[in-house]
Amino acid sequence: MSDEKICEEPQRPTGAVVGEVTMEKIVSLCKRRGLVFPSSEIYGGLGSTWDYGPLGVELKNNVKRAWWQSVVYERDDMEGLDAAILMHPRVWEASGHVESFTDPLVDCKECKKRFRADHLTTTRCPECNGELTEARQFNLMFRTHIGPVEDSASVVYLRPETAQGIFVNFDNVRESMRRKLPFGIAQIGKAFRNEITPGNFTFRTREFEQMEIEYFVKPGEDEKWYDYWVQERFAWYQRYGIRAEKLRLRPHGKDELAHYARACVDIEYLFPMGWSELEGIANRTDYDLRRHSEFSGKDLTYFDEAARTRYLPYVIEPSAGADRATLAFLIDAYREDMVAGRERVYLALHPALAPIKAAVLPLLRNRPEVVELARKLHAGLRRRWKTIYNDTAGIGRLYRRQDEVGTPFCITVDVQSLEDQQVTVRHRDTTLQDRIPLDRVEAYIEEKLEGA
Ligand code: ATP
Repeated sequence: MSDEKICEEPQRPTGAVVGEVTMEKIVSLCKRRGLVFPSSEIYGGLGSTWDYGPLGVELKNNVKRAWWQSVVYERDDMEGLDAAILMHPRVWEASGHVESFTDPLVDCKECKKRFRADHLTTTRCPECNGELTEARQFNLMFRTHIGPVEDSASVVYLRPETAQGIFVNFDNVRESMRRKLPFGIAQIGKAFRNEITPGNFTFRTREFEQMEIEYFVKPGEDEKWYDYWVQERFAWYQRYGIRAEKLRLRPHGKDELAHYARACVDIEYLFPMGWSELEGIANRTDYDLRRHSEFSGKDLTYFDEAARTRYLPYVIEPSAGADRATLAFLIDAYREDMVAGRERVYLALHPALAPIKAAVLPLLRNRPEVVELARKLHAGLRRRWKTIYNDTAGIGRLYRRQDEVGTPFCITVDVQSLEDQQVTVRHRDTTLQDRIPLDRVEAYIEEKLEGA
């Protein structure tokens, strides 16, 4: 095997957008590069369910970690929680889901397709122009049974949101962690909704993950905290790289507000199919704690020592989707440009979100000392981050493979490295290279991950 030369990339990327990002390009990249696969694909798939592949699970875990980092670790007024998916069925009566977590469903009398009436802009079938049935209310909760007997006494639901697990644990968390208002509880977990019209890749699915906060405050301070959380959550998406011009806030009109909500705003992202909700932030007043007090018989009021009074806290709820956020970060990072006269696809992901933080690539795979040095470097890095070692192709091709999955740093080890104990770090977005000492690599990556 002949020695491989550094494939210098003489031309800097032009930054020119070669093509617009479309959902087809994202779906195809996700399949090709192990980010997201159709679920049960060898059986023909199961409508609108998706599996995160080896790089997808890294990306989504990083999104969840970035959220947890900012709403739990970086604050002193928040606690974490991981409640069960199956809950007492009375929870969903108290929350109002049994009665009113419904969407209006219409069927086409001709082609038999089903639609959400509130998503239609015409009174005829959008597919075949056939006549539609009257709208019926369809409950979105998945029902199942606990135990071997399938009777009405054994009915339980797969939770349609994680929030109720927080409300029913309000007192447990407050007491065990000796919390005073204001404080919040954060939770990440699966939720299930039998959506009538799922679609747009992972944007709307029947099984998904939520990242929810319930922030408990003194009544009267709710509006201030509502404004605070809207700003805080809006800034989070930009902190992790989403371009400001692709984000907007859409306050709900009076007719759209749930009867108990005092205010609600959606953070929207400009997806390829148009502006769509990423996260909702609501001022839910004391509705949830009041209902759970009533239905459970347990007093959930809070004793305010300073004011010497008891009251039910008000709640601000920032409710985000882990899958939608992951999809938005992916779409926003997708870039096509020209490097050295060739088209390239890369993901300009924030380094903290990138599935692989660094790839170690020996330039000369037939030189055992070079390979050994590269492997040793990788052995140190992998103890801290998801990194890879690869010597299976020419360097130019290896760079492009890493660009396509958003790896921010490619580290090459060459013959010179044996003498000067230095390596080359090549940056994904600019393709520019730095020569740095071997024993600085770890600190270098750390700085870039934190400072980026
Ligand atoms: P939509 O109007 O899109 O149905 P929603 O207003 O019902 O959403 P919420 O109940 O506020 O959504 O849920 C909070 C968050 O959970 C949403 O902003 C979204 O990120 C996520 N989410 C809700 N439903 C789904 C779904 N079917 N698939 C993926 N994520 C979802």
